[in-house]
Amino acid sequence: MPTHFDSIIIGAGQAGPSLAGRLTQSGRSVAFIERKLFGGTCVNTGCTPTKAMVASAYVAQKARTAAVYGVTVPGAVSVDMKAIKARKDRIVLDSRNGLETWLRGMKNCTVFTGHATFESRAPESFETWLQSHVAELCLVAGDGGTALGWAALGPVSSRCVYAGVGEVSVYVDPSHQRRGIGRALLAALIGRSEQRGYWTLQAGIFPENAGSVALHQALGFHLLGLRRGLGRMSFGPLAGRWRDVLYLERRSQRVGVD
Ligand SMILES: Cc1cc2nc3c(=O)[nH]c(=O)nc-3n(C[C@H](O)[C@H](O)[C@H](O)COP(=O)(O)OP(=O)(O)OC[C@H]3O[C@@H](n4cnc5c(N)ncnc54)[C@H](O)[C@@H]3O)c2cc1C
Repeated sequence: MPTHFDSIIIGAGQAGPSLAGRLTQSGRSVAFIERKLFGGTCVNTGCTPTKAMVASAYVAQKARTAAVYGVTVPGAVSVDMKAIKARKDRIVLDSRNGLETWLRGMKNCTVFTGHATFESRAPESFETWLQSHVAELCLVAGDGGTALGWAALGPVSSRCVYAGVGEVSVYVDPSHQRRGIGRALLAALIGRSEQRGYWTLQAGIFPENAGSVALHQALGFHLLGLRRGLGRMSFGPLAGRWRDVLYLERRSQRVGVD
């Protein structure tokens, strides 16, 4: 991942994304920082959701007054608020995800969200890092000599009763996200951990990291709960803020079932 950029854009609201497009098209590299939701107010809580709901109200009103236009609507027109909200949520999500996908796929644009880890700096050495991980369960996805992502497992306890319980970590270089690399890494890690006798895998993920939560759920993890204010962020767009962490767990159906 690059560490030097020609420009930094803070906020994926109205102007940030198109500015990133213009800057990268003119050959400049961009670091893009969003601390919360891609699309900002307009997409997530402002224009888009209100207009989506107003559109439903408009249709209901037109249907109710259809006779004025010479149109017959058989029966009473009713409103299903659940369906209206679901439609609104879909539109918001598509818009937010579309924007994030566009930015993450943009050449010369690196997206930072501060939703990946509490760690503020890399470990002193690989050997130091390895002390808290299982060497055989540290996987790297590469392309030629370039590391695109990694997945690793660390034991949660030294007590033998928990010998088959591990905590997983998955990381994909932001410029290579949304290519299935995280899924391939996590799936491989699950398979190999089962071969080595692990029966329960757990993961702690920032709730804002919806992509990672969805990835884990797709591979059999289920939600245990939300740990509120678990740690204070020491870097990035959320520095100084106490962060909630979602806990997920995957229980093997093959290991430790006797
Ligand atoms: C209910 C409602 C309806 C609206 N309807 C309309 C409408 O129909 N038409 C219209 O023109 N306007 C409408 N607006 C107003 C419109 O939504 C806002 O004017 C517009 O979204 C502002 O855009 P912005 O990019 O300036 O800020 P925002 O949309 O707030 O975007 C700022 C982004 O920057 C991020 N950010 C901020 N600080 C940091 C930081 N330090 N580090 C990292 N990221 C950061 C935020 O997380 C956010 O994503 C509406 C607003 C509301 C609340």
